[in-house]
Amino acid sequence: MMQDWKTLYEVKGPKTLVEMTAAELKEAMKETDTVILSFGAIENHSVHLPLGADWYQANVLIRRVYEELLAMGHKTVPGFPVPFGVQTNKFERDKLFGNCFLSDRTFIDMTIDLVLALYESGFKRFILCINHSENHSALNVAARELANKYGIKCVVPDWVPPHNDFWPTVLKNPEHQGHGGEDETACVMAAVPELVHTDGVEPYYAPEDTKPVKMGGLYYYGGSVGIFMPVKEDQSPGYIGDPADATAEEGILCYDAYAKWIAQVADKYLF
Ligand SMILES: [Zn+2]
Repeated sequence: MMQDWKTLYEVKGPKTLVEMTAAELKEAMKETDTVILSFGAIENHSVHLPLGADWYQANVLIRRVYEELLAMGHKTVPGFPVPFGVQTNKFERDKLFGNCFLSDRTFIDMTIDLVLALYESGFKRFILCINHSENHSALNVAARELANKYGIKCVVPDWVPPHNDFWPTVLKNPEHQGHGGEDETACVMAAVPELVHTDGVEPYYAPEDTKPVKMGGLYYYGGSVGIFMPVKEDQSPGYIGDPADATAEEGILCYDAYAKWIAQVADKYLF
């Protein structure tokens, strides 16, 4: 019975579009035509994080980007986190149980439809954030089509590469933390601490790279390569790094840094 339900998690922060009434949105839009969206995924995040980990992080990120832009003098509307993303990159991981994904084509169409619908309500500028790295290509294709076909201004900030040198300054582990690692676990903890369970989660690091190539990593992590098929059997437990070292305080520092960078990018290209 609903009367007996327990609170699973709390939502805090400035209201997003879905939490506003139409009247509140209209009021907000008297002062802005910019909306912030982020695109996550329903994806296996191993034993310690919920399948909606990317969506919960997107929920916080759009609110923090809104705050950072406000501090720079730009009013915006924190739109909504989109739960749907494209399939996990099989080059990195083949622990795909539970993934509920869209094809890239459907994702592009979905993004264009959502942006056009918001455009119809008067939004003119769109900040399209990424909370599932694999959405990178499709999101850029959608933004390009929105610009070329409809003259709509979008920016797609990939906050991962500019933070490769930031993570070692706030995390306990200097080694690269991948999917579900210390930084991502920290961000989910800061968003929904009740849904994270790191007890007994052992560190896991990928074997050493025996063929290092200049910028030979994946493009959405700051490398120059697109590769999507598995190249060897995936030995990972569904994460890379040391999730058990994560704290909500680290997560807050991560959101601060990501949101500041995204706000700078939006300020440079949209305002
Ligand atoms: Zn994730």
